[in-house]
Amino acid sequence: MDQGKVQVYTGNGKGKTTAAVGLAVRAAGAGLRVYFGQFMKNNETGELAAFRALGDRIEAEQYGTGGEIAAPDPQADALSARAGLERAREALLSGRYDIVVLDEANVADALGYLDTGSLLELIRERPAGVELVLTGRGAGGDIRAAADLVTEMREVKHYFRDGVPARRGIEF
Ligand code: ATP
Ligand code: MG
Repeated sequence: MDQGKVQVYTGNGKGKTTAAVGLAVRAAGAGLRVYFGQFMKNNETGELAAFRALGDRIEAEQYGTGGEIAAPDPQADALSARAGLERAREALLSGRYDIVVLDEANVADALGYLDTGSLLELIRERPAGVELVLTGRGAGGDIRAAADLVTEMREVKHYFRDGVPARRGIEF
């Protein structure tokens, strides 16, 4: 791409990871190469299986140590998140991808797993032709300021509040 941008999908409503997955699939369909890293997750999500089905246009990796979102050992999770950021940095600078998605990076940042400075550095280091997408609730002010696009998913209603758990294929 001539000009990549930095996108942030944040807010409390549903749709942040879904939007990033949709973007990745659209991009792959258009012949772009995508790296899709997931912080905080270590589970067989529908998106992972879908990406595999698309062949080598999307490479996906998870950096979490727990199951879905919550990890039993925060310290191990933080270490893994930091190693994940390094993997993401390599992918961003490798020249092998047109799009780099870091799903739940804002959550890893908000929990203190990542140092905000290192995330900002990653944004600064982005080669001009690479699109960088950061998702997750609670995106900090510095991250928002550094982005070219910020979309805030606002919860108007969510069935989670009626006790509906995350459903495979819909939430993960
Ligand atoms: P999706 O992956 O469906 O696009 P998302 O990425 O916007 O959702 P996350 O913040 O990553 O949302 O977390 C979603 C998970 O947290 C869901 O599995 C859901 O069950 C749970 N959850 C709890 N409260 C909410 C809420 N208010 N809005 C969305 N998800 C919520
Ligand atoms: Mg999400």
